Amino acid sequence: TQIRFDGKRALVTGAGKGIGRDVCLLLHQCGAEIVAISRSKEDLESLSKEIPCQTIAVDLENVEEVKKAVESIGQIDLLVNNAGIASLAPFLETKLEDYERVMNVNVRQVVVVSQIVAKGMVERKKGGTIVNVSSQASSVAIAEHTSYCTSKGALDQLTRMMALELGPHNVRVNAVNPTVTLTPMGEFAWSEKSKAEPMLAKIPLGRFAKPREVSNVIAFLLSDLSSMSRHPLVITLDDSAID
Ligand code: NDP
Repeated sequence: TQIRFDGKRALVTGAGKGIGRDVCLLLHQCGAEIVAISRSKEDLESLSKEIPCQTIAVDLENVEEVKKAVESIGQIDLLVNNAGIASLAPFLETKLEDYERVMNVNVRQVVVVSQIVAKGMVERKKGGTIVNVSSQASSVAIAEHTSYCTSKGALDQLTRMMALELGPHNVRVNAVNPTVTLTPMGEFAWSEKSKAEPMLAKIPLGRFAKPREVSNVIAFLLSDLSSMSRHPLVITLDDSAID
């Protein structure tokens, strides 16, 4: 069965680079109309040259600007809360400002964006689907990832809450929890050989994921193929990677 999203509008956050950008390309191929949110204008300009899409450049940390932007978009059927950042430091040296930035971008803005989008889905009574891009880091401890692991653990719980309360309105909410994926963020955190090798040794397939391997799972979770998935279905891509 081929996944099709003809006639559906998709909102993707963090659409400029990495996984979010690839999700836009894939959902476009599947027939969805794309609304792309990201921070750097240049990335959005190059994306809109690659595929037809509406772009919104906004820093997702800025709650008021985000509210205004998302409220102006109109009907959304598919939401991918993908934007996320990492900040690396040992626990004892983790700065509160970095911790707050990571929590704001990886968790708080998901609440802000999803409340607006899901309210529209509930009011229109036609259902909808939401996928939160979490991480294997939600359920295991990774050295120097205090802010990141904490934020993704919170995102998994947020996913469960959204699934519980939006499910009765036929709005499905799931999460995808990738292992290290070869994007600018993945390279930032894992390009050093001394970090990459022990991580790779724990991944049974012996390699990091490609963005499309994550996007494919996101498309599946957005589609009717996962129409009766447990709410939420948290698909971890290689969860034996770390302990
Ligand atoms: P990248 O850093 O490669 O891309 C992230 C995108 O999100 C960029 O376009 C970035 O824009 C945008 N973004 C970040 N912060 C903001 C913000 N405050 N406002 C608006 N846009 C923002 O990340 P990935 O593609 O690797 O990651 C995507 C998601 O996947 C994240 O949630 C991440 O935690 C998760 N993930 C990634 C893994 C990996 O190994 N790569 C593994 C597991 C999960 P700009 O560059 O302009 O700031």
